[in-house]
Amino acid sequence: MIIDVHTHINNYHEDRVVSLNESLDKLSQNMKDNNIDYSLVLTSYKVNEHRPSTKQVVEAIKGYNNLGVVSGISYLHYNHRDVIEISDYLEKGFIKGLKFYPGYEPFYPNDIRFKLMYEMAIEYDVPVMFHSGDTYAPTGKIKYSHPIHIDDLAVDYPELKIVICHVGNPWIKDCMEVVYKNKNVYADISGLVLGDFSDKFERYMKKEIEEMITYAGDPKYLLYGTDWPISNMKSYLKFMGQLDLADEKKELILWKNAAELFKIDTSKQ
Ligand SMILES: [Zn+2]
Repeated sequence: MIIDVHTHINNYHEDRVVSLNESLDKLSQNMKDNNIDYSLVLTSYKVNEHRPSTKQVVEAIKGYNNLGVVSGISYLHYNHRDVIEISDYLEKGFIKGLKFYPGYEPFYPNDIRFKLMYEMAIEYDVPVMFHSGDTYAPTGKIKYSHPIHIDDLAVDYPELKIVICHVGNPWIKDCMEVVYKNKNVYADISGLVLGDFSDKFERYMKKEIEEMITYAGDPKYLLYGTDWPISNMKSYLKFMGQLDLADEKKELILWKNAAELFKIDTSKQ
């Protein structure tokens, strides 16, 4: 069983418009080719012809029992209608988490403006995911996406379940401390590479992830994710395969932690 907790159906090559169904077909095909049983689709902090809204994605995936939605939240642009929609979707179980984009938008995770969102996440018991580390775009401001800032949020909201995306890359050491210290913090290994891992980079990241597990202990906090289509699914599985870890620990990362955290019913896959 494999659960990918971090995929997108945004179109990152904006030279042409790709339909939502075309993007979903592509995701399904990639999952099939790589034996991925379930994926979470994370929507963006912005909506345009290349980035579908949470509503569009929720509607579009209704026929799929192997996809779930994590709703992107905009710090700068959300309004009361978005809050109503998100609370409605949480109530109905249509979304499995909330995703925030510090760095891409200028805010720290413990910003008071998101108090309501965090309270909703606690009430409906869904995790909140944070973009962390490098920003794909040079226009991002990385002081906001440093994983150290997750610690404030984790301490102030001990009941909130928090995922540091991309293990805070390149600040993986900071991420491992935040995860080690706070029992309510998890990390996903998505988006470490654009496309395929090179051999050299794979060796480098293998060491980093193994070091994290040596420091922070049994990987009950680590989640498998790719950031597809930014990273390649096949290359990611190869990366997982060469980690020096016992099989039962790999199972935790590949699906068990995710199934529990996001309440994914694995008997339906
Ligand atoms: Zn992503």
